[in-house]
Amino acid sequence: MNGLRVAIVGATGLVGQEFIKILAQRNFPLKSLSLLASDRSAGKKLWFKEQELQVQETSSDSFNDVDLALFSAGAEISRHFSPIAAQKGVLVIDNSAAFRMETNVPLVVPEVNIEDAKDHHGIIANPNCSTIQMAVVLAPLNRVNPIKRVIVSTYQAVSGTGSAALEALTEQSRSVLDGQAVIPHVYPHQIAFNLLPEIDIFLDTGYTKEEWKMMVETRKIMHLPKLALSATCVRVPVFVGHSESVNIEFERPVSADDARVILAKAPGIRVLDDPTVSLYPHPWMVAGTDETYVGRIRQDSSHANGLNMWIVADNVRKGAALNAIQIAEEMLRYGWLRA
Ligand code: NAP
Repeated sequence: MNGLRVAIVGATGLVGQEFIKILAQRNFPLKSLSLLASDRSAGKKLWFKEQELQVQETSSDSFNDVDLALFSAGAEISRHFSPIAAQKGVLVIDNSAAFRMETNVPLVVPEVNIEDAKDHHGIIANPNCSTIQMAVVLAPLNRVNPIKRVIVSTYQAVSGTGSAALEALTEQSRSVLDGQAVIPHVYPHQIAFNLLPEIDIFLDTGYTKEEWKMMVETRKIMHLPKLALSATCVRVPVFVGHSESVNIEFERPVSADDARVILAKAPGIRVLDDPTVSLYPHPWMVAGTDETYVGRIRQDSSHANGLNMWIVADNVRKGAALNAIQIAEEMLRYGWLRA
């Protein structure tokens, strides 16, 4: 094999498995691939293309012969092992929230701010899943007509919480249909046939940490520190695919038609917008795909400079594994990452 020596930390998890799948699908240039997880998974075998690879327990030595480490094992593991890996000259792309808002850590969505990746100090952060798909859409619109204010409500799939949440939704759905009692353990309340306006912890402001992440991460990615932004994040009983209802206020008036044209030309975006035939993106449709989808683009009837739209993407792919791999691919292309 020619290419990079890559390690996946959290290879047995939902995002980790997607990393493995996407590296194979995109023929990522690999010299070697190490699969790392906790001691619980050591010895477990996972397939990569035609090869069966053994999962190893993550340790400091795991990063000795590695060029690129893709982390998706939670913030605590990232905080411990990422600096160790970076010190060994490994480029870390981290999916957790551990370093996202640190000033010397680029927070990157390739379609929006890949140039920030050049100035890394060993660690690059992958943004929060719901932030990524919104930034992909806001950036091309902002380039044409500066954005003043964004109000977003999210409808986030349970896969955003990891594999345990997928099992919980399946089990709870069966219990409800069988007339049995549900004992919630992943979320504070039952998620099957329900909606929970609580993602991550509550902060003193009344916002949740997920809502705060959407606000501060979007400002950092778009280099708009003063952008007015307010988010409400809701967990919904969907397996894969985050949806967002977004209201955008621009500096100048904007038509829905112009926005459609701008978005249709922007990288990574597919516009699906024809109400006459009920054409708009929805989670079931986008699961397993790579683009960020936009529909229901319409004038805000309460504001001449406002637009409403509906944005959907696969949170495990574009919201996590794919975005991280696209960062590495772009860095290879620019010569900022070498074996
Ligand atoms: P998950 O399905 O629960 O997987 C967790 C992974 O972390 C497993 O591979 C697990 O290994 C590993 N792990 C746990 N403890 C470990 C330890 N002590 N040492 C090494 N590895 C350990 O969760 P996930 O959904 O893949 O998410 C993983 C990370 O990605 C989180 O930081 C999450 O916030 C972030 N993220 C997820 C999404 C998403 O859509 N799911 C989106 C953006 C970001 P074992 O199997 O051995 O326990």
